[in-house]
Amino acid sequence: MQQNLKPEEREVIKLVSFFRKKAEKLMEEKKLPEEYGQLLETSDKLVEQINIHAKNRETILNERTQLQSMIKENAQCPKCSKNDKLKRTGTDKSPRGWKSNKYKCRGCNIEFVWNAPNNPWDMIPYVEHFVEQLKSKLQNEPDEFTRTQTQAVIQQMEANIAKLKPVVEASDLDLADLETREKEMAEVVHKFKKHLMIEKIRIED
Ligand SMILES: [Zn+2]
Repeated sequence: MQQNLKPEEREVIKLVSFFRKKAEKLMEEKKLPEEYGQLLETSDKLVEQINIHAKNRETILNERTQLQSMIKENAQCPKCSKNDKLKRTGTDKSPRGWKSNKYKCRGCNIEFVWNAPNNPWDMIPYVEHFVEQLKSKLQNEPDEFTRTQTQAVIQQMEANIAKLKPVVEASDLDLADLETREKEMAEVVHKFKKHLMIEKIRIED
């Protein structure tokens, strides 16, 4: 059985296997009522749908986790400028609204919030803001060499954002689709479970 099933999905699958056993027994005794065949057929289709949906759920959520872990930060202690004694202690929201990681430096015994976001969603506005700052700096930069360098940095950052944006947007669309499907599926599963429970009482009488 799949690990990523919701409780009610699991219950329906259990009920279906109860009916299958019952049907097999009745078939042996050669007294299988007609509606059993129909019920089992519908049940099998639903179980198949549940499994496909669960697989899909797993894939999308795994992709989100991977996307989340894409951000590799090089956090360092603001006091000793090292990273070897850092321990992540949680997250915090920056004044600008993005989520960042909180660390403790066990060497200096201080806690600090790293100044960059810890996720690709917040990373987009963060870098965009940074690029804007660089661009306005560029306007008043008299030194040719510094200008060329800054321009190269801007280009690199813009290229990174252009790559990251569609990935994040696609993941958000996938998640929205999944949420819609979750609702539909939960409704179908709930209705069918009620139906099976009634049938169960009926045949147990
Ligand atoms: Zn330190």
